[in-house]
Amino acid sequence: MFDYLVVGAGFAGSVLAERLARIADKKVLIVDRRNHIGGNAYDCYDDAGVLIHKYGPHIFHTNSTEVIEYLSQFTAWRQYQHRVRASVDGQVVPLPINLDTINQLYGTSLTSFELEDFFARVAEPREIRTSEDVVVSKVGRELYEKFFRNYTRKQWGLDPSELDPTVTARVPTRTSRDDRYFTDKYQQMPLHGFTRMFERMLDHRNIKILLNCDWREVANVIPHKEVIYTGAVDEYFDCRLGKLPYRSLEFRFETLNTARHQPVAVINYPNDYAYTRVTEFKHLTGQEHDKTTLVYEYPQADGDPYYPVPRPENAELYKRYKALADTTPGVHFVGRLATYKYYNMDQVVAQALATFERIQGTRAANPASEAIHLNGAHRNGVHAPAETVAGAR
Ligand code: FAD
Ligand code: UDP
Repeated sequence: MFDYLVVGAGFAGSVLAERLARIADKKVLIVDRRNHIGGNAYDCYDDAGVLIHKYGPHIFHTNSTEVIEYLSQFTAWRQYQHRVRASVDGQVVPLPINLDTINQLYGTSLTSFELEDFFARVAEPREIRTSEDVVVSKVGRELYEKFFRNYTRKQWGLDPSELDPTVTARVPTRTSRDDRYFTDKYQQMPLHGFTRMFERMLDHRNIKILLNCDWREVANVIPHKEVIYTGAVDEYFDCRLGKLPYRSLEFRFETLNTARHQPVAVINYPNDYAYTRVTEFKHLTGQEHDKTTLVYEYPQADGDPYYPVPRPENAELYKRYKALADTTPGVHFVGRLATYKYYNMDQVVAQALATFERIQGTRAANPASEAIHLNGAHRNGVHAPAETVAGAR
């Protein structure tokens, strides 16, 4: 008899399996319908021997010392500051928009102070209700249209005016020359890759791993006491209240016979092509190799669920699923798909650690206390609203 059946071997499932097995001495069976552990953070070597991220670029960054200390038990790190460029008006310019972006784009030589005045002139202050408002109120309509409108339409199949502010608020605007994508305290990649880190998390006598297996195939066959569920929440309930939208992507990989192809890891293409961005993995991984592999991301409606879609009507539907989840005894819903939150990896780790403490009885079942716990795990200094971070929507 297993104490826990853990559905999904991504960050949410693996952190909980590890904690339950190692700290609480519980017997855990972790199942995943994919043929590997690691969830969307899975990495592997392609046919050319280049280390790639099978489900698109994953860059680890966090402000949470607790999350870093936890993961450091299972990996050493490589320091890495992520940089992104956007291809706009025939130029390749820094993103987030910063002083150099504007000077390059317009052929000016503004100072930071002058740029503040420039933004103040072009900005259209307004109440922030949508992802359009976030950008237009800061940098005005022209820059919004060059950098955000079309990228967002491609990525989400929706206009920014149809999405919560939190989506484009992930990308800040700067008047300095800082061209880093993130400003978190910790920005580092697992030295030997994410998959190796997951292997070490799950390497325990109390943990059994079952791959290529949908949990429904075993739920009634293998005895267990409780379930940790990290798959899509609507799927758990057979979509009985309707389908929750998740955005998907198709990843197309290309290996080139050259050691280096792009100046930085990621180039975004807001206005051209059907793909949103191109990533060259070797920047992220630091691997030395005479070939290089890129991935192109093509957004699509159908396929594996990758992104919850943050907009009011989806939050409403999720709320109804959450009410069902809250009254399903013996099942804990954790992670990006099961709590329908646009969470980064560190936020999922923090959420899973908080769930473990709740299960152990060392943390109150009050979402407010989870918000404190997750405090450090946010992005770019832009906190998600407390209710979002607390998973209490
Ligand atoms: P997942 O990793 O999705 O794991 C869930 C697992 O459950 C999957 O392996 C799935 O196969 C399994 N499963 C589902 N249903 C069943 C079932 N019925 N039976 C058995 N198994 C099931 N975060 C960052 O911090 N930095 C980044 O740069 C970053 N980049 C990203 C880029 C892309 C393209 C995407 C899609 C996400 C990115 N993220 C990034 C977010 C990151 O992937 C997630 O925060 C994290 O992986 C979520 O972990 P999880 O365990 O909640 O979900
Ligand atoms: N975004 C944009 N243009 C860009 C980069 C981002 O419009 O060049 C918007 C888009 O809506 C995107 C969101 O900002 O989905 C968040 O960007 P991020 O890079 O965080 O996306 P992720 O890495 O999660 O896919």
